[in-house]
Amino acid sequence: MTPIPRPFARWDTWPALVLAIIASVVGGPAGAQREPDSTHFWALAGARVYPSPNAAPLDSGVILIRDGLIAAVAAQRAVHIPAGARLIDCSGSTIVAGFWNSHVHFTEPHWGGVDTLPAALLTAQLRAMLTRYGFVGALDTGSWLENTLALRRRIDSREVLGPTIRTTGPGFVPRDASPFYILPARLPEVLSPANARAQIAARIREGADAIKLFTGSFAAPTRIVPMPLDIVRAASNEAHRQGKLVLAHPSNNEGLQAALEGGVDVLAHTTPEGGPWDEILPGRMVKVHLALIPTLKLWIFELSRKGADSASVRRFLDVAIGQVRAHVRSGGEVLFGTDVGYMTDYDPTDEYLYLQRAGMSFRQILAALTTAPAGRLGRGGRTTGRLERGADADIVVLDGDPARDIRAFTQVRSVWRQGRQIYARDTAGNH
Ligand SMILES: [Zn+2]
Repeated sequence: MTPIPRPFARWDTWPALVLAIIASVVGGPAGAQREPDSTHFWALAGARVYPSPNAAPLDSGVILIRDGLIAAVAAQRAVHIPAGARLIDCSGSTIVAGFWNSHVHFTEPHWGGVDTLPAALLTAQLRAMLTRYGFVGALDTGSWLENTLALRRRIDSREVLGPTIRTTGPGFVPRDASPFYILPARLPEVLSPANARAQIAARIREGADAIKLFTGSFAAPTRIVPMPLDIVRAASNEAHRQGKLVLAHPSNNEGLQAALEGGVDVLAHTTPEGGPWDEILPGRMVKVHLALIPTLKLWIFELSRKGADSASVRRFLDVAIGQVRAHVRSGGEVLFGTDVGYMTDYDPTDEYLYLQRAGMSFRQILAALTTAPAGRLGRGGRTTGRLERGADADIVVLDGDPARDIRAFTQVRSVWRQGRQIYARDTAGNH
């Protein structure tokens, strides 16, 4: 969903005491334990390692990290841990590549003015929403562009511990079709193919990594306005010409058709509002390489807070789960995404359980978290999303093995992004 775009609350009214308490909880500027120098040489040893979704695990593996990259992945008996490497005993844990959440927003009031918020506070907020759950990457599918870019700068300058961020800025809607749930605020409207091309080009100049289109927009509670196909095509072509990904918020099957025929790359949601998909649709989606972000838990969140009865909520969820099942059975690609930042419950555990209910195996879910987003969102020349020599050292250390219990994906011990530890649960088990 798209969050309500409104001016952020001013943070300078926050009592200094509250900020001081938060800073003390997160430990202030990270010390040596939380912020190792990435030029150091690290060895994570003794864990079960899944190098990629389709590789056999190493039962007692070692990962060497140097200068932000993976220097080696091997069985413990087959690798010499060099003197000078800092050894971290990972016995009993499972190591996988760092996760991407491909549908997030930074529009809750506490993200306002990220250019001036204390670094420790931003680190704590990113931990609560993303890093404590293993996310080393996040695709922001609709927030204030400048604010998200400012957040990214502070992470990339290493002042704040957080994920790699890609962002679309606000989504584009058809004429007079801003979603009713954000009114009186309005999203940018694309009025014609030429107008769409110009606005998309401008957005990319301003720093967007991807484009989001409301190919079906809830202009009123009972009225979904589709985006004209020629406009969807023009917008997609312009984004693709510049090497950018196009996401669609479809709302219903008509919006999905417009995405499908208009050259969109990724559906930002399933479409339970439109009922079950027909048998032909998944095959057509696969043919044009249209990926799907399920956002299954979101439907529970939305319907529950609207007061829907539990039977209706379950039926709605079942339709969405059926859509994911049909997509995956046809060989379609899934990108993991939960709409956190719009959805205020950040815990992804239920999403993993619902994906499993849709028939996705541990390895398919791991692909949705790692290799699939890396393929769509990675930057040229870098290897991400898998654990292999020369790849970015984006790593999650888990307590359990998600191949045995999918909920282990949320039992995160520590997280590394480009060789730097960005999250470590403390020894008392606190997040
Ligand atoms: Zn959203």
